[in-house]
Amino acid sequence: MTHRAGRHFLQIPGPTNVPDRVLRAIDRPTIDHRGPDFNRLARDVLDGLKPIFGARGPVIIYPASGTGAWEAALVNTLSPGDRVLMCETGQFASLWRTLATRLGLSVEFIAGDWRRGADAEAIEARLAADKAHDIKAVCVVHNETSTGAVTRVPLVRQAIDRVGHPALLMVDTISSLGSIAYKHDEWGVDVTVAGSQKGLMLPPGLSFNAISNKAIAASRSAALPRSYWSWDEMLNANKAGWFPYTPATNLLYGLREAISMLMEEGLDNVFARHDRHAEATRRAVRAWGLEVLCAEPREYSSSLTAVVLPEGHDADRVRALILEHFDLSLGTGLGKVAGRVFRIGHLGDFNDLTLAGTLCGVEMGLGLAGVPVVKEGVRAALDYLAEARRPASLPRAVA
Ligand SMILES: *Cc1c(COP(=O)(O)O)cnc(C)c1O
Repeated sequence: MTHRAGRHFLQIPGPTNVPDRVLRAIDRPTIDHRGPDFNRLARDVLDGLKPIFGARGPVIIYPASGTGAWEAALVNTLSPGDRVLMCETGQFASLWRTLATRLGLSVEFIAGDWRRGADAEAIEARLAADKAHDIKAVCVVHNETSTGAVTRVPLVRQAIDRVGHPALLMVDTISSLGSIAYKHDEWGVDVTVAGSQKGLMLPPGLSFNAISNKAIAASRSAALPRSYWSWDEMLNANKAGWFPYTPATNLLYGLREAISMLMEEGLDNVFARHDRHAEATRRAVRAWGLEVLCAEPREYSSSLTAVVLPEGHDADRVRALILEHFDLSLGTGLGKVAGRVFRIGHLGDFNDLTLAGTLCGVEMGLGLAGVPVVKEGVRAALDYLAEARRPASLPRAVA
């Protein structure tokens, strides 16, 4: 192994770069999770998470990857054989569907082309036809990480309300929370699923369920088996600042620090920063003469951009060259778009020069791989960054 000087560029759409402040917060002795210091930490994070979700109600924290929180959302609210409506927005929606099917749920999957968010009109039509209210939940992925397309959750809420359907609304925000504006209460979401390693800037290992009163009511009669994921024991213990089993103590130190960082910057500023970097990235892609996978401008993701390569060029070969030459990791194409796209993650602890470095690596790598591009992408992105400057009012991070 030869030593690689400088920092690795981890520009996959999760896990994201962990800021030094969060690393230092985690680097502390593990404490007694039944002692007074832990109790303060637990209360800080349980309360501090609520504004990040836009929720007044409880947010449950699991020592698990995001997939665990997917499972928790379903097993706490549904019964064997229940009908669930999901939308094929991409690989993550497809994985959630597989998980639901394995749990014994009956999933209806609205087909999609992996280039846009969930189709609220199709959801409305399906719910309108469900006069018997057999469908118990509608599950959508807010930011589909495999495609870079966002589902407009308020439109899905309106679709459900227009037909007066009682189904629960569940939303996966694993790659949008803390990067793209999201409002659990205001949008009438019943269960919001999230994870630690993307917009929250933490290492992998924590995941979350923000839950509505309606979801809690559903959990009282839900009959799918559950133990580790059970909300009721967790909610009872959390009320007093405890957990029913050993929590991921050191990750919670990191979570407290990450929440402070997001609050110091201000959530609206965090979202505006992501929007701006995403727009600069898309300008680079177009200037190269390449295509953004997301086909609906109102659904462009601010946390990642999936770039489509011309026929005959293997996206994974381009990624491998970029890693080898520039120590820059980009996201691979997943599922149906494997080999055809690579993904640029521009979320989390990320600034103008991180973006500039990332785009330089991509532009040089496209050249090395012999992909026919116009080498004007970096220039287009930098021009946009200079023109759409950070608002002067933006508070500086407190070191
Ligand atoms: C990353 C991701 C997941 C999977 O989370 P894990 O932590 O890998 O279990 C699910 N959904 C979306 C939208 C994601 O981005």
